[in-house]
Amino acid sequence: MSRTTVATIHLGALRHNLARIKAMAAPAKVMAVVKADAYGHGLERVARALDAEAECFAVAALGDGLRLRAAGHRQRIVVLSGPDQPGDIAEMQRLGLEAAIHHEAQLAWLAEASARRGRLRVWLKIDSGMHRLGFAPECAAEVHARLAGMPGVDPGIGLLTHFSESEVFDGDATRVQIARFDEATRGLDGPRSLSNSAAVLGWPGARADWVRSGGLLYGLSVVEGKSGADFGFRPAMTLATRLVAINRTAKGERIGYNGTWTCPEDMPVGVAAVGYGDGYPRSAAAGTPVLVGGGRVSLIGRISMDLITLDLRTAPQAQVGDRVTLWGDGLPVESIAAQAGTISYDLTCGMTRRVLFVEDEG
Ligand SMILES: *Cc1c(COP(=O)(O)O)cnc(C)c1O
Repeated sequence: MSRTTVATIHLGALRHNLARIKAMAAPAKVMAVVKADAYGHGLERVARALDAEAECFAVAALGDGLRLRAAGHRQRIVVLSGPDQPGDIAEMQRLGLEAAIHHEAQLAWLAEASARRGRLRVWLKIDSGMHRLGFAPECAAEVHARLAGMPGVDPGIGLLTHFSESEVFDGDATRVQIARFDEATRGLDGPRSLSNSAAVLGWPGARADWVRSGGLLYGLSVVEGKSGADFGFRPAMTLATRLVAINRTAKGERIGYNGTWTCPEDMPVGVAAVGYGDGYPRSAAAGTPVLVGGGRVSLIGRISMDLITLDLRTAPQAQVGDRVTLWGDGLPVESIAAQAGTISYDLTCGMTRRVLFVEDEG
């Protein structure tokens, strides 16, 4: 018997979303960010769906670039953390990957790189205020000059920065980061890239030459109170299972582990076959929406490893075997993330190996 909990990946939605990002960002080009196994959607699956339309993929680490080349993808691939150790550089040259360079240690490794394997394309990463990876703005010109003098480095050096809260459309932080980046890179040659997905939506002045979009590709938003659908994107993952039991539970009885939810009246309680063992967040609060046969019901009680419990008073016609949608089609994952105290990316990245992945063209 096939597993009950199924994540359906909608290939048509992925293509729609990339086309929409491209249209919004034009004339800037788009790096399709497929790190973390394409935000949990499956790296090879997503890359295959987007191969004809994606000009460039971006990944976190060399291993993902290797997987993309092994799957036959020929387009540009940017490794957003660059080399992690000296030996990575020759491997990147061999695979024709591009490297973000954010640290002095990487410069030392690069200085040793030979041009024999082909010159490595690099993106100089500037820390404009995120304070995670990158050179200080005041070092940008000097590092740029050092990179330009290295025999193993391609002279077309890109310039990159990353925003810490671009989903706050009227905030000062992004304004300050853009100004610092502009100042640090003034007079330097090379393509520029600042924007992630939220910046594509809210900071049109920062699109520059390349945007780096992950979330929107999968139809995901991190903008407070908004789903990807609110911006015209389609969810690329639907997580669904089945109703496996319906119980009549008496007024005053408490549901599930630690009895955190008490029945206010005699009522039908549904049990669905999904839990934190599948990646459904254990932190999801009572009241989190779930679809049963297309109608909205509320989660009640604790999330177990394999099961969740549902208030079926709003779905009196529900039957064992009915389809239960946890997120995706008809139920934005952002609304589950909000109830679980996290963001949509965290949920799609968190599917476990127990979940069966299938694809459709939707
Ligand atoms: C993950 C990442 C992105 C993509 O961010 P989204 O919000 O998913 O669009 C862009 N740039 C860098 C450096 C990243 O690490």
